[in-house]
Amino acid sequence: MWNSPKVGILGGGQLGRMLVESANRLNIQANILDADNSPAKQISSHDGHVTGSFKEPDAVRKLAESCDVITAEIEHVDTYALEEVASKVRVEPSWQAIRTIQNKFNQKEHLRKYGIPMAEHRELVNNTPEELAQIGEELGYPMMLKSKTMAYDGRGNFRVNSKEDIPEALEALKDRPLYSEKWAYFKMELAVMVIKTKDDVLSYPTVETVQEDSICKLVYAPARNVPDSINQQAQALARKAVSAFEGKGAFGVEMFLLEDNSLMLCELASRIHNSGHWTIEGCALSQFDSHIRAILDLPIPPKSLELLQPSIMLNIIGGATPDSHLKATEAALSIPNASIHLYSKGAAKPGRKMGHVTVTAATMHEAETMIQPLIDVVDTMRA
Ligand code: ATP
Ligand code: MG
Ligand code: MG
Repeated sequence: MWNSPKVGILGGGQLGRMLVESANRLNIQANILDADNSPAKQISSHDGHVTGSFKEPDAVRKLAESCDVITAEIEHVDTYALEEVASKVRVEPSWQAIRTIQNKFNQKEHLRKYGIPMAEHRELVNNTPEELAQIGEELGYPMMLKSKTMAYDGRGNFRVNSKEDIPEALEALKDRPLYSEKWAYFKMELAVMVIKTKDDVLSYPTVETVQEDSICKLVYAPARNVPDSINQQAQALARKAVSAFEGKGAFGVEMFLLEDNSLMLCELASRIHNSGHWTIEGCALSQFDSHIRAILDLPIPPKSLELLQPSIMLNIIGGATPDSHLKATEAALSIPNASIHLYSKGAAKPGRKMGHVTVTAATMHEAETMIQPLIDVVDTMRA
């Protein structure tokens, strides 16, 4: 047996909560560093949690004292604190990987050395209109202006359609470190969850993701109408990108499928990821199960990452009113084969991820038919 290891998790949001669900089933104690009553702490009763933030060095030090291995549900953590505690406790994935990945520009500069295809991009040094206009000349319009750091759910992106948009774009992202990306004319967005273990790099099947207002709305597993050759290429690209980083655990890799069927990396995350929630019902081992096993060097039979049944995951996102998400949940109760996951985050805000629903079926067509009424409900509740 594995001697009841204690896993420290930086962050106790919904991803941490689902990690705790997996850890609980193996009698593994997960010590959460986050505010009291955060979603992950609510389902884990013991005295090993730490109150504070994953951005506070003292709190990270305190967590390190009580754990065998430390991991993170979010990449925006204090990697200098992680670097410091790495001499005393295992940190997975490595603090170096998290530090490089949390800055999307550095992440891309790093991946470029490994020949990973991605949209052409330019760094802004002064954040001036003149500088961005010059970059616009080089990359063409539209282009996507992006914050290098603290980006999530598209908060940090601004689409610049023409030179006239430049002042508004710089105002929207002011005081943030920026880079700009050439527009990717994709026909579909794909994603692959990669699991890095002590001696292997494994991947789940390629899924299709649908973003609305830059927030993930739907995930189709497997990606619809995508030939197996592209499924295999996407998995290979994702594994290659993740291999460029040190450390164990789950990594989420987002990609664009272009008109000519070539693939381009959008970005990757050094953690369990929204595009992998479907694995809870869709595979024998979920991304959360695999992450826990990977960081503890427990076996992961590759067959357990194969798709058992076509699955569709729909995010329940805060809408126009504080209870929109509850109305969506109520509707989900009557959908056949729907597994409902609520995150217990308290009050909903527009755009906040409050939960998700996964529907599985014998065929993708059947799953689409079953989930459609719920998509209709969600669409009427948008902010
Ligand atoms: P996440 O919540 O996934 O971390 P993020 O805020 O880091 O998101 P990105 O993943 O970079 O942002 O972009 C969000 C979405 O914006 C993408 O999924 C895609 O739909 C769109 N997008 C990003 N970059 C480009 C691009 N170069 N061209 C066209 N669309 C883009
Ligand atoms: Mg991101
Ligand atoms: Mg993204």
